[in-house]
Amino acid sequence: MTRSLATLRDGFLNSAERWPDHPALQLGATTLTYGELQRRALSIATTLQWVDRDAAGPARTAVLGHRDTAAFEGILGALCRGHGYVPLDPLVPVARSRAMLRRSGARSVIVEAGAVPMLDELLTESPWGLTVLAPAEPSTALDGLRARLPDHRFLGVEDLLLPDAWQPTPVEPDAEAYLLFTSGSTGLPKGVRVSHRNVTSFLDAVAARYAPGPEDRFSHTFDLTFDLSVFDLFLAWQAGACVCCPTATEKAVPARYIRSAGLTVWFSVPSTAVMMSKLRMLEPGAFGGLRHALFCGEGLPVEVARRFAAAAPGAVLENLYGPTELTVACTVHRWDPLVSPAQSELGLVPIGEPYPGMTARVVDERLRDVPDGSTGELLLTGPQRTLGYLDDPERTAAAFVTLDGASELFYRTGDRVRRLPGGPLVYLGRSDHQVKIKGYRVELGEIEMVLREVSGSDVAVALAWPRSESGADGVVGFVGHGAEDPEVVRRRAAARLPSYMQPREVRVVDEWPLNANGKVDRGRLLERLIQERADQERAASEPLARAESGAERAVAS
Ligand code: AMP
Repeated sequence: MTRSLATLRDGFLNSAERWPDHPALQLGATTLTYGELQRRALSIATTLQWVDRDAAGPARTAVLGHRDTAAFEGILGALCRGHGYVPLDPLVPVARSRAMLRRSGARSVIVEAGAVPMLDELLTESPWGLTVLAPAEPSTALDGLRARLPDHRFLGVEDLLLPDAWQPTPVEPDAEAYLLFTSGSTGLPKGVRVSHRNVTSFLDAVAARYAPGPEDRFSHTFDLTFDLSVFDLFLAWQAGACVCCPTATEKAVPARYIRSAGLTVWFSVPSTAVMMSKLRMLEPGAFGGLRHALFCGEGLPVEVARRFAAAAPGAVLENLYGPTELTVACTVHRWDPLVSPAQSELGLVPIGEPYPGMTARVVDERLRDVPDGSTGELLLTGPQRTLGYLDDPERTAAAFVTLDGASELFYRTGDRVRRLPGGPLVYLGRSDHQVKIKGYRVELGEIEMVLREVSGSDVAVALAWPRSESGADGVVGFVGHGAEDPEVVRRRAAARLPSYMQPREVRVVDEWPLNANGKVDRGRLLERLIQERADQERAASEPLARAESGAERAVAS
């Protein structure tokens, strides 16, 4: 029986007390026990407490790290300080992270050693002085930064305070646990504010469902800027389990990693399973050690679920669904090979039922309930409904609305669903231009804004292409005639966007196809891509067909 947590750090701290010598984190050849990770986190927390004596600002600390122990220590350190954490990814263009850091208002940032060279650019023209903690860097290695950026304070490993001086400060359940930026349709990423109450409600639901224990070994496939990572870290740590974070090389061959790391809980976007299926990694019985095989973030293709379930015969396989605004995941469907395929629509596994405490409604454009069996937009409310968008009351009011007969706010997911009569909710797509690219949430409007800016074209369109079984694998951009050279546009856009949002190709359109309202007809642009692909496939198969029929003739004669 798991206890309900008051705040996000409590599960980790309880486990560190109970199982100090148990592995908490495995990253490549490095393993940190709960005791070690706690000492490092509390050293950061104590230092932040000391720094905060003379810093005024919101209770937030940014963490710049990617698959590095400093990032995990930093997240726990920020939470133990009583701050919400703001994850930033060093693999994302610095200007983007700088904008997020600035909007978060954070006065301190914890940085992995590999990201230290980015600091000049990250901190440039900051309106306030920041304290940078680089827990893996010798203090002298930061001397150059101290000289160049005298308005900021740089603390290396010897400058951090001892963990014993940590004083737990009380944290309110409605305080922010993390602030996560998601792609925004008008060009600016949106900061979603998630409270401790939101995330501990989510953890209660999944802890009751999966009953993890100290012998479990959780996969950690997600970037820290993707909220699905919260499941891996905090569900594992509240159970005394180990978070197994593959290195980039290990991540490329997930089937081998599942076995070599002895994973018992697998959680990834369906795209990873699609890739594993294509590369024939889903051999029946391949993952005998898995107890749970969980997917979330985009549509889960039925065929892939079937194959993964055969590869992990001892595992319960589930399809989780949820937007960041409803804290990680809020509905779930347990795969049953006898029942689920018949309940699937568009070849995707149903998204199931809301978690206990969450309420779902399916409504039409005027926010009136539609009967079971009809398509509508999915809205949800409950303890996982987050605090809304950072400094954006307008967008918050548009997305969090009241419905007839209910006093609480519901979040409009923008997802089109249908409740099968007497059965689960099924996912039917989006009602806007939000797409999933390899599981990452992308507003095409954000890419279009960048394309307009870097090309000088008044009109730009981004399409998710090529399509995959679960979403899309990439982006193709279109700009108007007379714009910059398309390759230059592509490169400039790439410098401003994270890799999964970068157009693979930019095309110049002489005359935009228009729809009846005079707007650019995106459907027709997509049709062109589909047609082109079909022509290419036909052209590629013709020589083969000719060769085959030639061979047949040769055999016949
Ligand atoms: P994010 O905020 O990045 O978690 O993205 C949330 C969006 O991902 C949802 O609004 C859906 O469009 C999509 N999504 C998440 N889980 C699923 C799922 N199991 N099936 C289909 N779409 C999903």
